[in-house]
Amino acid sequence: MNDLTLPRMHDRPSEASSVHCVKTTCPYCGTGCGVSAEVRSTPGQDNIIAISGDNQHPTNAGKLCSKGSHLAETLEPSARLLAPEVDGQTTDWKQALASAADRLQAIIDQHGPDAVAFYCSGQLLTEDYYVANKLIKGFIGTANIDTNSRLCMSSAVVGHKRAFGSDSVPACYEDLDLAEMVVLTGSNAAWCHPILFQRIRAAKAANPSRRLVVIDPRRTASCDEADLHLPLKPGTDAILFNGLLVWLVARNAHHADYIAQHTDQFDAAIDAARASAPTIEHVANACELAPDAVEQFYRWFAETPKTLTCFSQGINQSSSGSDKVNAIINVHLATGRIGLPGASPFSLTGQPNAMGGREVGGLANQLAAHMDLQNPAHHQLLSRFWDSDRVADKPGLKAVELFDAVAQGQVKAVWIMATNPVDSLPDADRVRSALEHCELVIVSDCMAATDTAATANIRFPAAAWGERDGTVTNAERCISRQRALQPLSGQARPDWWIICQMAQRLGFGEAFDFQHPAQIFREHARLSGYQNSPDALPRGFNISALAEIGDLAYENLTPTQWPVITTTKTDQPDTVPSQAVQQAWSGTARRFANGSFDTSSGRANFVAISPRPPAYQTDQQFPLVLNTGRLRDQWHTMTRTGLSPSLSGHRPEPQVEIHPRDAQRFALKPDGIARLRTRWGTMLARVAVSEGQQPGQIFVPMHWSDQFANEGRVCALVNPATDPLSGQPESKHTPVNIEPLASQWYGVLIRRDALGSTPLPVDYRVRIREHHGHRELLASTTAVQDWPAQAAAWLADGNEQDTDQWLSYDDHAAGLYRAARLRRGELQAVLYISPAPITFDTAWLSALLEPQALSLESRRALLSGQPPQGQTSCGATVCACFGVGRNTIVDAINEHSLDSAQAVGAMLKAGTNCGSCVPDIRALIEEAALPA
Ligand code: SF4
Repeated sequence: MNDLTLPRMHDRPSEASSVHCVKTTCPYCGTGCGVSAEVRSTPGQDNIIAISGDNQHPTNAGKLCSKGSHLAETLEPSARLLAPEVDGQTTDWKQALASAADRLQAIIDQHGPDAVAFYCSGQLLTEDYYVANKLIKGFIGTANIDTNSRLCMSSAVVGHKRAFGSDSVPACYEDLDLAEMVVLTGSNAAWCHPILFQRIRAAKAANPSRRLVVIDPRRTASCDEADLHLPLKPGTDAILFNGLLVWLVARNAHHADYIAQHTDQFDAAIDAARASAPTIEHVANACELAPDAVEQFYRWFAETPKTLTCFSQGINQSSSGSDKVNAIINVHLATGRIGLPGASPFSLTGQPNAMGGREVGGLANQLAAHMDLQNPAHHQLLSRFWDSDRVADKPGLKAVELFDAVAQGQVKAVWIMATNPVDSLPDADRVRSALEHCELVIVSDCMAATDTAATANIRFPAAAWGERDGTVTNAERCISRQRALQPLSGQARPDWWIICQMAQRLGFGEAFDFQHPAQIFREHARLSGYQNSPDALPRGFNISALAEIGDLAYENLTPTQWPVITTTKTDQPDTVPSQAVQQAWSGTARRFANGSFDTSSGRANFVAISPRPPAYQTDQQFPLVLNTGRLRDQWHTMTRTGLSPSLSGHRPEPQVEIHPRDAQRFALKPDGIARLRTRWGTMLARVAVSEGQQPGQIFVPMHWSDQFANEGRVCALVNPATDPLSGQPESKHTPVNIEPLASQWYGVLIRRDALGSTPLPVDYRVRIREHHGHRELLASTTAVQDWPAQAAAWLADGNEQDTDQWLSYDDHAAGLYRAARLRRGELQAVLYISPAPITFDTAWLSALLEPQALSLESRRALLSGQPPQGQTSCGATVCACFGVGRNTIVDAINEHSLDSAQAVGAMLKAGTNCGSCVPDIRALIEEAALPA
């Protein structure tokens, strides 16, 4: 590879100005929706005009959820890291790479390869992941590479390998359309996989006899469509599924022939199940469920051959997550429902390329191409293939262990790529402290400001979505292309390029002489088929049919589900593949339908499950259970979705959801601020009283970081216990205490420009991006005596002019204060202060920041706190896809007597795109029907 050069993947149209369409893949969740981007190219510039769902992509057929629909709002160049930095100084690539490689090499020379670690991400493309894994495991010689996918699906990996002999998902998305019953367990798919949930909803609408069972301690949006909701006690999932196994066998509802012909260890599994869940009553008691409800679920499961059990973080994120996965797989093996149309266990992955990372060995306990670190034959095979005698031969450190080792000084250099462990790992304050004291922290990221980047010695500007070329694999094993829509910004470079450049400087240039992601993909595909045959070293992951794919064929690759083992080759290496070839590449929709598995015996394994309680139990000091999870319109730690005003309106701040009884017990007022405390950390959150929570449990979203809130990082509170097999943390169950924050006042500050990280003397502070400015939500335990003086400071922008106008309203006795600053009649900033939480709608205020002189009516409105006469505020966002607010929907319901979500959709479009706001719309219809 020529030093520091980066060949272009493909040329843009040559006309002076042209519009073209680029098909790519959404960078957020493991659903892997196809995206169609209209791009206008002018000389030197590519502008995205429109983003929509790719109607030819088999996953989403043209639909996108709210996050995908607003991708264009997240591509803002001002938030990007655009040049390398070394020790806080901006530099060029030559300096940055040399410095990073020299420091890394010095640590390896002095302390050995195990003193070095990479921490990667399901956001990386498969090609990036492949070279990262090849560099550290194959050439540096340590397996210390792990990934944030450890936090979302590593228990599923263990479950699959134990049962099927390989990390293979047997099902595909079509099964959502075909299943007669879908069981969602530990999954709020309505919010976390909205496009998949829409398929479930559509299948039910087409045939209302189809059933949906939701197993979740919380009443989530997914319950809106459920025929049965089982709000089980947190951590008791394995008891529920063990009980189902016992119940099926007791009623002869299992598939004895299938068990005999295709499986092993059934007797041990049923014995363990009987010991832990002998009767319905026992299960109901342990899971705190009504016996009738448990029996109904068991009966429905028994009588519905086409049952698809979808599971996600609620199962995986547990100190016994692997066992919970196998308890689920056990009941599917017992009924022979594996890999059949509409019948399978189905792991819904969180990260967009968690599966691709698994394929290339991006976990510390795997080798590339689904090979095992502790299998000497696999080790030899990989050493031969990579022509390296340094291939790591013992497992490396899994995510939580890895940062423990950084804290203890065993790992002295860590390279973090495309993720934010300071906010997403459990016991996150310890992670931050570990990185702050680490000898060498290298961070590759596309974003300038993240809490992790703040700890880095060296920062590499990585290409962002929209600039990257490569592949990702979604939850149904479907490999899709991510294609560049725009040229690289500033000095940003693709992750694979940065890794290969580092490899060259570490002395491994020959093995990393890649100039194009297609070359990496070909090597990855070749490895998957290398000595992979029924008589040699059979492996389930095999895409060797794509090993000879040409650059153009790679560029035009259509979504393909692995395994892809046809021997059909491209017509010519550099031509667009014919339809016949594309057809031959279409891969394998389902696995294991014939009862033949990837184990050495070809038989699946039951696993004997003895359920264990969560690692830490509640007590007097920490009497509640903290559950963490995801919101509908945010992704991970908001580094990108936090930039989108359209996505901020639904849940603009970190909320703690708590049952009304617990709110009363802990003296918490609705919309007040609470302090949450665990053995590991504290945070502040807005109180949201909700009947959807069970007493004794609270829920807090995982998204907020120091970039968006003061003390809003819930992972600082999460206990670091992990599953002993998968290493996945127990993010769903931490004992916690909660108390009200004794706020003296609450405020809303809206400004045209951002205050950014300028410190304010407040306890609670949340920063929100708006369409025409920035909103801050504030609360403080310290009283302010002189609000006019305080407001003068907070409303100033540093360019004050004598002609600026000030409006203010001060009711000192009531503790109410309102002030606004105008320039040339245009609103610049406004502040509302109240002694009680500000619950009246302020959404309309931001619209006043549009650059136009305010009318007298608007000025009065500013001080009264009510929208100008004759105008209404749309209210808090309900439908983010079409920007429809609560008030707009309520008015339409009342004025037009709308009585269904469809009727609301027909009038306002709300709920007609991804549909994830439909439960909210239904709740508003129900609310409107209540007596005044
Ligand atoms: Fe993206 Fe939404 Fe599709 Fe997930 S469901 S891939 S976030 S559009």
